[in-house]
Amino acid sequence: MAPVQISAVSAQPRTHPTAGQRARQFANFANGTTLLGLALARSAGTAITRGPAGLIIASGYRWRVPFAGAFTVGNVVICRVGAGQLTANSALLGHEARHCSQYAWCLGLPFLPLYFLAAAWSQLRTGNPASANFFERQAGLAAGGYIDTRTPRPAPGGAGGIEV
Ligand SMILES: [Zn+2]
Repeated sequence: MAPVQISAVSAQPRTHPTAGQRARQFANFANGTTLLGLALARSAGTAITRGPAGLIIASGYRWRVPFAGAFTVGNVVICRVGAGQLTANSALLGHEARHCSQYAWCLGLPFLPLYFLAAAWSQLRTGNPASANFFERQAGLAAGGYIDTRTPRPAPGGAGGIEV
């Protein structure tokens, strides 16, 4: 197998990662999820480039699953659009970067079952996998292109009810 080629995205000025971003980069390398993300990105035939904040961007993803414009595996942000288009969308890139941090906080692979549990919980509660999903809410629903479908429920028996 040939080594993964990583080239810089020249269109976007890149600043050095902060200490926190470096810690995330190291954690996701050490826990193996970044390597898993690179393997997936390479298998899917994406273009792999360095992004800002210690992220790796894998663009041009065409597989049907997952049904998302962008998703993360470790520090690898995999997207259907071009790398320049993703880095130009700072809200979406920030959303995906927060998912990268979530991988680090979950010590890598445990993020995936926890995320799917949260998505299932959200699906049951709200009818969609994002609105009540802890990970999506923490990453920012609007930034991720989600609409918050949660609506306040009327208090039982009128005013004074406690909603949990
Ligand atoms: Zn998200």
